[in-house]
Amino acid sequence: MTAPSNAATVVPLGWQDLCGITRVRAVRAADLPSKAQTGLGFPTCGQAMDLFDGIVANRWGALGDVRQRPALDTRVSVAPMDRYPGFDLVLADSVLPDGTPFDCCTRHLLRSALEELRRDTGLEFAAAFEHEFTLTGDGFAPDLVMSLAAMRQVQPLAEAMVSALTQAGVPVEAIEPEFGKGQYELSTGHLWGIAAADKLVVTREIIRDVARHFGFRASFVPKVSLSRPGNGAHVHFSLREAATGRPVLYDPAAPDGLGDAGAAFVAGILRHAASILPFAAPTPVSYLRLGPGRWSSGFNAYGPANREALVRTCDLPMLEPARRAAAYNLEFRAADNAGNPYLLLAMLVRAGLHGIRQGYPRPPSLTVDPSSLDEAGRAKMGIVPLPGSLAAALAAFAADPVARSWLPEALAETFVAIKTAEVERVRDLDPEAICELYARIF
Ligand code: GLU
Ligand code: MG
Repeated sequence: MTAPSNAATVVPLGWQDLCGITRVRAVRAADLPSKAQTGLGFPTCGQAMDLFDGIVANRWGALGDVRQRPALDTRVSVAPMDRYPGFDLVLADSVLPDGTPFDCCTRHLLRSALEELRRDTGLEFAAAFEHEFTLTGDGFAPDLVMSLAAMRQVQPLAEAMVSALTQAGVPVEAIEPEFGKGQYELSTGHLWGIAAADKLVVTREIIRDVARHFGFRASFVPKVSLSRPGNGAHVHFSLREAATGRPVLYDPAAPDGLGDAGAAFVAGILRHAASILPFAAPTPVSYLRLGPGRWSSGFNAYGPANREALVRTCDLPMLEPARRAAAYNLEFRAADNAGNPYLLLAMLVRAGLHGIRQGYPRPPSLTVDPSSLDEAGRAKMGIVPLPGSLAAALAAFAADPVARSWLPEALAETFVAIKTAEVERVRDLDPEAICELYARIF
């Protein structure tokens, strides 16, 4: 652990609730080592917190405590800069008072999924993300999309974001104005294992925090308005042999360069796509973003470099073979930033692992927009529309015993209760009102 450069005396301990909100308690920096043993108490029913400052009915009620135990190696510290007071955060694991994992701790859930992948297949999983967000602010009139003017317009904010993220150990690949008015994208490099989700939490919080101190609001809301492009959080992922570090997705002799392990992994994701969706697109507004013709994906299709597919390959043939194999990755396009990243990655890893274990056949490689085929044409390839609403996605999860087995019962039950209540809550709102509601939250 590096010493905090801004010498904060009070450090927030944060954990992701099931909705993807970072909940916190803060402690004196000097007390972190002792808190790393005992954690800090938090009511168990806090797992049932919703996005509207409430708690849905749950199995715990007033009983019980979990201990939020800081994982000291996750501490990030950003020094104060001009107009920015600096940032500190330590992520926590939720454990029971006897020190064993709490079965609703999503950090534990992802760690278990990664361990099982490694134990069963000898493989490790890495992920990288494309964070799309919309900036708003008093007097901010966004310039032409994707233009240098739109880039210059948000200096020195963009500079400060990249600097803060770099200090926080997030490998920033690029930042640019995206296709929506006031929409920007910050992409991050691959991180192996649990660090991918840890740093995603840090990325979201730092982007929002830096924007706020520069007088902007950065929102990851999946859809700002029906008429504007969505904000996605595409997940790029890779696999490597744990023992040797050898990348295994790429095989020059295989179709699309996708080797057998990767193909079976993708097949698992496609087969269970509808059940993964409540965790990848976890709010009613997420479904205003998803759909054909929006580059966000509307079908459970796979295709090389196909932006209308749910999963596509990303390949750089210009590279010499070893670097090409290391750079080759898969992209899952349905995800947005309105949820818990540990849950999302755990579901992707479980689905992929299931595909490998079951030896699922290589999915058909689609080189056209799935909307350009008729229903029969798609059906021949096993391609079906993704659920069109959160309610439909939750129903698909409920009807999929395999996907349900990937989550502890208490976690699944609580997640479904929160999300079912959320569907009810926005039932009578029109789409624009739903966009506005979630823009205030995310
Ligand atoms: N904004 C699109 C989405 O909602 C993605 C555009 C892109 O391919 O970067 O996922
Ligand atoms: Mg983009």
